[in-house]
Amino acid sequence: MRLGDAPESSNFEDRTGQSGGGMSLGGGAMGLIFSLVASRFGIVGIIILALGYCALTSLGGGGILGGGGGSSSGESKLTPEQRQVLTGVLGSTEQVWSQIFQQAGARYTPTKLIAYTDYNQSGCGAAQAAMGPFYCPTDQSIYIDPNFFHELSRRFQAPGDFAQAYVVAHEVGHHIQNLEGTLDKAQSAQARAGTVGGNQIQVGVELQADCYAGVWANRSGLLEAGDIEEGMRAAEAIGDDMLTKGQVSPDNFTHGTSEQRMNALRTGLQSGQPSACNFAG
Ligand SMILES: [Zn+2]
Repeated sequence: MRLGDAPESSNFEDRTGQSGGGMSLGGGAMGLIFSLVASRFGIVGIIILALGYCALTSLGGGGILGGGGGSSSGESKLTPEQRQVLTGVLGSTEQVWSQIFQQAGARYTPTKLIAYTDYNQSGCGAAQAAMGPFYCPTDQSIYIDPNFFHELSRRFQAPGDFAQAYVVAHEVGHHIQNLEGTLDKAQSAQARAGTVGGNQIQVGVELQADCYAGVWANRSGLLEAGDIEEGMRAAEAIGDDMLTKGQVSPDNFTHGTSEQRMNALRTGLQSGQPSACNFAG
């Protein structure tokens, strides 16, 4: 990617040098969490995400971590490359989505992107690195532990700056869905549906976010040769069937199969049109 050409976003917050991050807040609002990956730690994480809720709020309340809003060493744990991907991709999504919203006669309110390590307090409760990157609709913020990029590169064998950009743009896609009211609608539909139906609804939401990531990429003007392949490799690697290696029934999939995710990303990439991303029903 030509990230040097990307506008740097001012909606980025680096909390990677902090520990605790305000764990004493405790409790907190329950919010829908749409994580990019099902889980790195097997079935427990999958159940948490299958419920579609942030289920980690009980960690707060001044537990073993004490309280006081976290301590800050001031030392960022972000590499310059990671910072450039995060701020540049976020800035570029702001440019692209502002334009799309403007053309539709609306105004785009940007999401915040918060980089953290280990754990942090989000509007949806405690954020843990193990959850993978996620978007919290309550505070309209994306939370990402940059170590996930290592994971993507090593464990999921999807290296490259565009693979990372896809992760960020996918979460921005959830923010778009929040602004459009799609997340609210999905949440009420999930409440009426059974588990299987609820999972299907979430898969639709996730695929639309993948497609929106492709729409951004199409319009970003930042792509170089090889970028699309990087993105496809990432989309393939984090498909539910790949992640769970056949140990989970397709009824329990929440993000779509590798094939579905690649198809969704490709649809956005090729069309550049949000209206082509009609996956969320
Ligand atoms: Zn997602």
